[in-house]
Amino acid sequence: MNKKLLNKKISKRPELLAPAGDLARAKVAIDYGADAVYLGGMSFSLRSRASNFTMDDIREACKYASSHGSNIHVTVNIIPHNEDFEGLEQYLKDLEDAGVTAIITASVSIMALAKRIAPKLEVHCSTQMSITNSAAAQLLIDENQVDRVVLSRECNMGEVRQITAKCPVETEAFIHGGMCVNISGRCTLSNRMTLRDANRGGCAQSCRWQYHLYEKNHRLSTDADMFTIGSKDMMAAYYIRDLMEAGVASLKIEGRMKSEYYVASIVSGYRHLIDELYDCDGEISQERMNYHLGEINKGENREVCAGCYNGRAGQESIIFHEYSNNTVNHDFLGTVVSYDKDTHIARVQVRNVITTGDRVEALMPGKLNDEFDVTWIKNDEGESIDRANRPMDFVTFEIPFEVSPKDILRKIHE
Ligand code: SF4
Repeated sequence: MNKKLLNKKISKRPELLAPAGDLARAKVAIDYGADAVYLGGMSFSLRSRASNFTMDDIREACKYASSHGSNIHVTVNIIPHNEDFEGLEQYLKDLEDAGVTAIITASVSIMALAKRIAPKLEVHCSTQMSITNSAAAQLLIDENQVDRVVLSRECNMGEVRQITAKCPVETEAFIHGGMCVNISGRCTLSNRMTLRDANRGGCAQSCRWQYHLYEKNHRLSTDADMFTIGSKDMMAAYYIRDLMEAGVASLKIEGRMKSEYYVASIVSGYRHLIDELYDCDGEISQERMNYHLGEINKGENREVCAGCYNGRAGQESIIFHEYSNNTVNHDFLGTVVSYDKDTHIARVQVRNVITTGDRVEALMPGKLNDEFDVTWIKNDEGESIDRANRPMDFVTFEIPFEVSPKDILRKIHE
């Protein structure tokens, strides 16, 4: 092997693993650079409120992924009670037949069943198993033949390094998205407050509700000043280099309930960051890092923290008062439907209000983003309008550079 390669700090480009709540979002994630997508079927998966996939959808997702060099992972991550096993055997066989690469599960009984009746499926242990030490990882490998250890979101960077260095199979770590304020998978807030079992797909996100604060019978909060106990989202862009140097094989984005726009923005942001870090062996300037942070932040609309990577999450990681959309600086304006290279006219499906004079950025899979001004707009009847404000309507306007169907347009707030 040549000396330059031997001295590299980052020996392998990690997989970028993205979430999808439906087929359209799975395709968007793959288009924008996900190496693998994880999704939930209609049964046996958490996030039962996410629009889950039928077996036909899973087959279609596998076909699309395989034609783009990507993989599909399926969450089978309920904590099963006896009655939950009905139909599971057939389900696992169907996933294997559909071309799914891996299941993600937190149950040793589901692991054993999958290994026995669907041996082509890789088994990845879910983050709900709270793997925070090497002994636990080794036990799962020895006893349950897991093919990948998904690390607990509660690991700090030192623990990620140590476990990954000793682990005989791949490790996977979270890099972006919602965090549980309680240790993932060990929370019964929703069970107790709504009778919806968080570990069987029913979490009502009770930690994000607005609460009053009492000291004995004296109410300390006001109606205008209620508080939540939800965690900030994780945004680990600053730690990607460390995770890559540690040899983590897969970097996972959370968010099966998030929108197409969120998936495209966050996947695209991390895709560019990971590729640049890999190409430069981790050595990128602060200016380039700021650029990538800016791109990732455009898709996020909650407050963020680094999770536990820089130590135990403390008070600074809690959102005590949630004001939604307080950090959004770009709006999802629409999606390109078609583009005429000769006239430079694009047909666009509207999502949010587009006005003449808007400064707009196009997100294009595999390319760097580019910007333009909307100088005129015509509706589908060919009439000039100043403002397109009906979601899902079609309009045309000029885009001075080449765009393609499915490219995403977002507004830039100067
Ligand atoms: S209530 Fe909050 S902390 Fe508990 S499982 Fe749901 S999201 Fe996680």
